[in-house]
Amino acid sequence: MNTNKITIAYGDGIGPEIMEATIDVLNAAGANLIYDTIEIGEKVYLSGSKFGISDSDWSTLEKNKIFLKAPITTPQGGGYQSLNVAIRKTLGLLANVRPCISYSPFVDTNFANIDLVIVRENEEDLYAGIEHQQTDEVVQCLKLVSVQGSEKIIRYAFEYAKAHNRKHVTCMSKDNIMKLTDGMFHKMFNKIALEYPEISNDHYIIDIGAAKLASDPERFDVVVTLNLYGDIISDIAADVAGSVGLGGSSNVGENFAMFEAIHGSAPDIAGKDIANPSGLINGACMMLVQIGKADIAEKIQNALLKTLEDGIHTGDIFKGGLSQQRVGTKAFAKALIERLGQLPSTFKPVKLNSDAKPIIIKTEEKKLIVKKLVGTDVFIDWSSENRNGKILGGKISQLSVLNLKLSKISNRGVEVYPAGHSATFCTNHWSCRFLNTEDCNPELIIQLLQNFNAAGFDVIKTENLYTLDGKAAYSVA
Ligand code: NAD
Repeated sequence: MNTNKITIAYGDGIGPEIMEATIDVLNAAGANLIYDTIEIGEKVYLSGSKFGISDSDWSTLEKNKIFLKAPITTPQGGGYQSLNVAIRKTLGLLANVRPCISYSPFVDTNFANIDLVIVRENEEDLYAGIEHQQTDEVVQCLKLVSVQGSEKIIRYAFEYAKAHNRKHVTCMSKDNIMKLTDGMFHKMFNKIALEYPEISNDHYIIDIGAAKLASDPERFDVVVTLNLYGDIISDIAADVAGSVGLGGSSNVGENFAMFEAIHGSAPDIAGKDIANPSGLINGACMMLVQIGKADIAEKIQNALLKTLEDGIHTGDIFKGGLSQQRVGTKAFAKALIERLGQLPSTFKPVKLNSDAKPIIIKTEEKKLIVKKLVGTDVFIDWSSENRNGKILGGKISQLSVLNLKLSKISNRGVEVYPAGHSATFCTNHWSCRFLNTEDCNPELIIQLLQNFNAAGFDVIKTENLYTLDGKAAYSVA
């Protein structure tokens, strides 16, 4: 995609400072870009905009297709939804690519040879942000993982490895616990890996995978994982490599791309001219490659390496004995600009392929699958009778309709009827599973719900149970 016009946003917290530094670097390097500035983030939300971006700024984003974005603030535990997540999902930015390298011996790290890339799924998983408080005690967040989303990100990871001459792709998931969602992701990984025999692969359960990223990061090359795990492990990897302030990232889809630093708006250091602008500068270099200006990206990255090598460091990476000069955001950008055209002497100079083509993902045709309704889980809010699963089971089994019969009751995923243990703590949120594997139909389920209603139960929701090609497509408990 060759273009000179890009959208930029200065964001919140340290955003304006690191964006100014980045624009200075881009201009001095001869990127020759035209910037359309839009307003997003906290100010826009607080002025009453529901989406954190005005309609006209959204049109600018769509028109220019390429977006360089400084971090924005999203409130924790309430308030408005994340615009970052909304942009990624609305524009189909399926892959969040986060390279992470160590700059040893000039930036302190225990690992001199980190050179890995995290490819994070960017559109689904728990980041759908679909949450419901179902009883006064229990809140749920839906984890949605699709076949297409998994296929696209895993293919992207292998195609990325191929295009960047990388040799190994690691998948991380938690399929020992989330057997359907993460299980599907892992199975898809195994299937697609077979199409890339030249690239070796393995899988880690995310907990030990994250631990290994912290204790032995040099073993990894390309890591592909689901959205939430990817978010967490890319901060781990960046911090272990030296600082979250160093990491850049791209969010790429078929028609749009957004580039940013991996870190947030760092309100604790905002307005002090001390933030490290390298993360956003690295993100901007990924953007330059995407828009056909790999030569400029190469020039900037080599100057960045030279600046780090010369010991000119912002506070987050400054260390006595390694650093020469502690500088602020502006002075760091100035030092980098002074070194444009120079190559590092200890680090290997960056050489980018100016013919590299953007990665386009083609997914497989969908196969026809036989889907059969076999029952339903009816979730209820029930607080009485000492929360005893056996007592509840006695009442609920009376509500069965023909062969749609109560099979079990569980509480937070633990069976409490007909089996169950007296030590199990029960909330007021119960899931009552009714199965009829032979001839279930929606009318039976409607009749069942009417029975619940007539018996005075507070039904919160239902989840229908299906088999797909004869296999149960629901969790056991
Ligand atoms: P953060 O990444 O903003 O900060 C974590 C720590 O790293 C802080 O101590 C901070 O000072 C330091 N740090 C971050 N960037 C730095 C830099 N460039 N130079 C030096 N030090 C740096 O994470 P947080 O504090 O958890 O989040 C703050 C806000 O940012 C939240 O509202 C969060 O939602 C938002 N956020 C936005 C994005 C984004 O816009 N893409 C990403 C992550 C977090």
